[in-house]
Amino acid sequence: MHDSFQARLERTAKEQGADLFGVADLTSAVDFVCKQGGEHLKEFPRAISIGIHLSDQVVDGLQRHDDPRAILPYETLYCSVNSHLDQVAMLLARVIQVEGYEACPIPASQTVDSSKLVGTVSHKLVANLAGLGWVGKNCLLITQDYGPRIRLSSVLTDAPLRAGSRMDEDCGSCLACVRFCPVTALTGVPFSSLEPREVRFAADLCDGYMTKRTGPLGDQGLCGLCVYVCPRGRASAR
Ligand code: SF4
Ligand code: SF4
Repeated sequence: MHDSFQARLERTAKEQGADLFGVADLTSAVDFVCKQGGEHLKEFPRAISIGIHLSDQVVDGLQRHDDPRAILPYETLYCSVNSHLDQVAMLLARVIQVEGYEACPIPASQTVDSSKLVGTVSHKLVANLAGLGWVGKNCLLITQDYGPRIRLSSVLTDAPLRAGSRMDEDCGSCLACVRFCPVTALTGVPFSSLEPREVRFAADLCDGYMTKRTGPLGDQGLCGLCVYVCPRGRASAR
């Protein structure tokens, strides 16, 4: 693959508002990817990961997450950034197709298995393999520049793009998110690809907490405390 095409994809993503761009080699994770999303995903050895940094002001407001004046801007931002990521992913897929390759954009917010609360493809896995960040003890992607204050989307492709390298876990001795979670859904066990998510995260506790919360518009509430509290995401850490 000529570098200019990859550079054009990155430039397109960033011109359209993405703050993060990386390419993952999925071959080492093909079994996991196919088990979650289906055997047809075998035809995509690469995936582009794109991310958008969330407003610090809005995320900092989550410390008052029982106050509708704080949670409404977060919910609005969450939905609009997801939708924007979907637009950027679709545009990248179009550019790839025009070049003669297959491309499949994966929606930013997706749950295809409500019992496990997982989507077709893990955006975190793609971003981790692309070298954009590691999976933290809050089970979110922690990026160098923005901590977990991001939303992610992915575009699967067979275009022979140059992939980044997986980033290792780097939470160190920090346990801020584990201590701050109101329902102790996080166990504090560092991420390992060899262990199931249940070792680190009780998804039912987190989901149950959010289901009980009513959002400012009468919809299901979000929580986001483990996004707010992570010191890696604070503006002062940049
Ligand atoms: S979103 Fe809230 S409930 Fe869920 S893990 Fe994070 S802090 Fe805990
Ligand atoms: S709060 Fe600390 S332990 Fe949790 S994800 Fe951030 S750096 Fe890791």
